[in-house]
This record gives sequence, C-alpha cells and structure tokens, in this order.
Amino acid sequence: MMQRRAWLKSAFAVTSGVTLTAGLTERIIAAPLSKAERAVPPLLNAAVRLNSNENPFGPSDKAKRAILAAALEGNRYPFDLTSELKQILAAHEGVTVDHIHLGAGSGELLSQTGKAFGSTAGAVLSAFPTFPMLMTHAETFSARWDKVNLNDKLEHDYDAMMAAITSDTRLVFVCNPNNPTGTLVDPQTVRSFCMEASRKTTVFSDEAYLEFLNPDQQVSMVELVKKDMNVIVSRTFSKVYGLAGMRIGYIIARPDLIKKVAKYAGDIPISIASVSAAKASLGDKEFMAMTRRKNAEARKVLTDYLDKKGIFYGKSHTNFVFFPAPAAGKAILAGMQEQGYLMRIWDYKQKEWCRVSVGTVEQMQGFVKTFSSMFS
Ligand code: PMP
Repeated sequence: MMQRRAWLKSAFAVTSGVTLTAGLTERIIAAPLSKAERAVPPLLNAAVRLNSNENPFGPSDKAKRAILAAALEGNRYPFDLTSELKQILAAHEGVTVDHIHLGAGSGELLSQTGKAFGSTAGAVLSAFPTFPMLMTHAETFSARWDKVNLNDKLEHDYDAMMAAITSDTRLVFVCNPNNPTGTLVDPQTVRSFCMEASRKTTVFSDEAYLEFLNPDQQVSMVELVKKDMNVIVSRTFSKVYGLAGMRIGYIIARPDLIKKVAKYAGDIPISIASVSAAKASLGDKEFMAMTRRKNAEARKVLTDYLDKKGIFYGKSHTNFVFFPAPAAGKAILAGMQEQGYLMRIWDYKQKEWCRVSVGTVEQMQGFVKTFSSMFS
C-alpha cells in the first residue's frame, strides 16, 4: 500500500500539472535519467519547454499549409507519397532510393540500428555523454556499450575513440554537433575518423543538428556513403525544420546496410501529414536561415549570462547549452519547474550538468532572470 501511494505521488501529484513516471519519461526522452530527474519527473504541461531541443519557431508556414491539406486526404494510406518523398530525398542527397530509409523521426532509425547491430554480441562504441538512443537499444539486445569520455572542451576525442575500437566493436556512433554538449569537431577530423574507422567497423554519423551550422560549414558524411563506405548517416526534420511532433527522419547508407536496419522497421510508420510536412520543408533555405538567426540571438542571452558569471559551458553550435550545475540538480529542476521552466540535468564525471534548450529571446530572458535569482 505504501509503495503504491509513493508511486502515485511521484507519478501524479508533484505539483498541479501532469507529470510522467520515471519509466515513461526514460522512454520518451530516450536517455538514462539522471538521479535528479528520477526524483523530479517533468511536468508535461509546463509553460516553457527547454528540455527537448525543440524549435520554438516551427513549423514553417509552408509546412503548416501542407499538413492542413494532408488532413483532408487522411482517409488514404501514404504509400505513393512515401515513395515520392524517398525519390525527392535520394535526389537531394545524390544517391539512389535504395540508399534511403524513412522513419518516424530519426530516433526510430537509431533504435532500429541499435537492434540490428546489437542483436549479435559484441559492442557499440560512442563518446560519452552523447545522444544515447542507438546504444541503449543495442544494450537491450545483447551488446555492450563502450564509452569514451569527451575532452575537456566537451568535444568528441577522436584519437581516444579510434584507440577504443576492438575486434568486438560492431558499430561506432558519432554525433557532430554533439547532443547534449552542442560542441562541434571540424569536419576534416570527423571525416578522417569515419574513413579509418569504417575500415574496421560500421560508423553511424548522427547529423540531427547539422543545419544549425552556417551552410558553408555543413559537411555531411553522406559523401562517404557515396563512396560505398561502411557508413550510415541520419538526418531529421525535428530540429531546424521545427517538425518534432510530426515524427519524420531518414538514414542514408549503402543498400546492404539499409536492408540490415530496415529488418527492424514497423510496416507503415509514417503518416500522410508527416510526409507532406517534410516535402514542404526540405531545403527551405529561408526558414532554416531564420531559425539559425533567431536561435543564435536567443542562445546569446544564455551564454552572456554564463560568461558574466564565469560559468564554463560547451561551445554550442546548436539549440542547447551544457554547463555544470551551480546547485543540486534536484533543487534546480524542482525550482525551475515551479516557475514554469523545464530543462535537463545530466550526470557526468561524478558531477551534475544542466542542459538548457534555446527558446525565444523572451523565454531565455525569463529563464536567466529566474535561474539567476535562485541559483547564484
Ligand atoms: N539524434 C540526436 C542527436 C537528437 O538530439 C535527437 C533528439 N533530441 C534525435 C536524434 C532524435 O530526434 P527525432 O527522433 O525527433 O528525429
């Protein structure tokens, strides 16, 4: 009875809003929760969501119109539209349709890849911390997750990662720019690593935040796929295009690798609305430039505050910032949540770290005001 009451309390009654159980939260955010997050489940209906790296400026007007038009066709299966989108993506990436596999968000494709490569014993290797979904799915099958800490600037340490590849390594995951730190490694280093590592094992390049870089810096590892290398690249419509709720992403890889991953796919996972939104958004330079500009402006509100306080943070090239927690993680989550702000706490190197997503300028001004009044 006591246990049930405790569970109900943590599940529903923390504050006046709707909260999630730890297990459900873990599934939704697809990450091992920190100790602080286990103690303070997120409020589902909080006013300012700075916990999931969502784009506050999306979807674009073009995408909204496409979604509304698609709703009128909601009685139809999306087969023709899905195959049309695959053709459009193949042309966009300069590959054939057999090199493209769609998913309900790139997260679904990370989980399929984790299962495909984790089903035979051995290891999956990644930097730590990074976006963990592929590795946690591989672990739920029979793989071991080998982790290589980031360097002192919170960047991938590619020399250490190369040294950590063994005959046991089934796949290496790289994320550039990296989540949760926002840090970027120069594309030449990443490309050299991917080329050398792909001679020993499969390399997965997660490029969820690539479009947050200026166009001349956006170097995708898809070039290596075109050279028939043992490389899988993932892209998503959730971030710069602002379509996280529509759930659509894709991977690009050699057809044999696509087949290996797609074995774990659901049958008809993508809706007519998400295909239509993706088609209307792909390559929308104006919308992407607007997102980048507004994101940089709002991110500066947060980094100016951290600079003023002398708080170290990872140099962010994305829509989130990672810095050491200036107080106990539990107190930060509970205090900020009470004021309507959601954010994340991570455990890394026996310390607690804040990851704050970038919202609008007004939201970041409000966040900084509230955060500084409570914690420094
Ligand atoms: N990769 C990275 C690095 C991410 O941060 C995320 C989501 N936060 C994803 C993949 C999955 O996103 P989605 O399923 O919405 O494409």
